[in-house]
Amino acid sequence: MSTIEHPSVTALRDLLRLHTVASADGGDTDPAPFVELHRLLREHFPLTHEIGEVVDVPPHGLLIRVPADPESPTASADPVVLMAHMDVVPLGDESRWTHPPLAAEVVDGEIWGRGTLDDKGQLVAVIAAVETLLADGQRPAREVWLSFGSDEEVMGTCARNAVEILRSRGVTPWFVLDEGGAVASGAFPGVTRPLGVVGVSEKGVLSLRLTASGRGGHASRPAKGGPAARIAAAITRLERHPFPAHLSPATVEMLRRLAPHLPAPVRPLVERADRFSTALARVLVAAGPEAAALARTTVAVTTLSGSPAINVSPTSVHAGLNLRIAVGESTAAATERIRRIVGKDIAVAVDEAHEPSPLSPTDDPAFALLERTVTQVFPEAVPVPYVMYAATDSRHFTQICPRVYRFAPFRMSAEQRESIHSYDERLGVEDFLDGIRWYRALLDSLGAATVAPDGATP
Ligand SMILES: [Zn+2]
Repeated sequence: MSTIEHPSVTALRDLLRLHTVASADGGDTDPAPFVELHRLLREHFPLTHEIGEVVDVPPHGLLIRVPADPESPTASADPVVLMAHMDVVPLGDESRWTHPPLAAEVVDGEIWGRGTLDDKGQLVAVIAAVETLLADGQRPAREVWLSFGSDEEVMGTCARNAVEILRSRGVTPWFVLDEGGAVASGAFPGVTRPLGVVGVSEKGVLSLRLTASGRGGHASRPAKGGPAARIAAAITRLERHPFPAHLSPATVEMLRRLAPHLPAPVRPLVERADRFSTALARVLVAAGPEAAALARTTVAVTTLSGSPAINVSPTSVHAGLNLRIAVGESTAAATERIRRIVGKDIAVAVDEAHEPSPLSPTDDPAFALLERTVTQVFPEAVPVPYVMYAATDSRHFTQICPRVYRFAPFRMSAEQRESIHSYDERLGVEDFLDGIRWYRALLDSLGAATVAPDGATP
């Protein structure tokens, strides 16, 4: 059988053809593609649905409880939650796609389409791994919950509802694994080996709306210092006053683990990342936007609006700011800083504010299990913790579990990582199948990695 005819590849392609876009206002979401997605999951993964307990999670999510092997010594130990999401971002400008985003074409060993990387590939990989385990007549050594959200991309309510359901059932997960990191090549300047980056926290999100107001009027009699000029000046000031750079403990740990793989001249500095963190933070900022985002709170100017007519001066001009708040900082302090920089002439309103997530431990058996599984399936990769720039559904799970990790077991090039939320999103067929192997290896090891260094069973 060619890998293209692999049943899991077929399942993924079927899911990719569904336009599962969630609306920020949940009521506007078309439920039909989600209902069809549930049906396809039942059709492609019958054992998981037969042996597992399926719980609907509003609006269109699913929780599936896969019971533990009753013979396993860890049968009643805390369960593991494996997450993914069904919804995707809109297709964007379809003419930019080399292969159409909803056709799920397989071309030169790659599956093309919106959602291959974010996040249907992960969803199908995890459920396919469970299905193969059950098909082999086995059960996981401890209970496993699959949690598939339906509105991750619009920061909707589904993940919160899933957490409430788990909480009401007394579930206190050993660890939670969601999207986030990957087996990323070209991820860090100077490191040639791919990195198995496992997110241990995520930055906070803060959306602010700046408004400058003024008289406005006819464009034939413009006044100096109008609202448009003041908003422009405020944006320029923000660019000139970036947030201070510093390293979180997770970034220090990431650098420490990367050190042996770096070119010799910088190795001693990075090995002592804890001591040289200020200098290293500056190096990261200078190394380009991806590295800089590791080292500080970032500010992006996203929306701009003024007069709707070209011959009318605006009475108010707005700029939207999207900030990603570094771990260890707060949305309130960031808002204050922005207010100081733009000055009292500009009104600052908070549209949304989510604090950075707590740090999940890296000196812990759960993290060690993920690390070992990365090395087992991707021996070329160096597993490292990192702080994610993007927000995921898993941040809600920090309420019921201190060990929340973010990793999709797929090889991703820098180009592929850029295609997420953009165009030409695609996943290698072999990379997808290795992702299934990774989840299967993880499921196979859930009984082995249960004793903490101090002898306690988590
Ligand atoms: Zn996602």
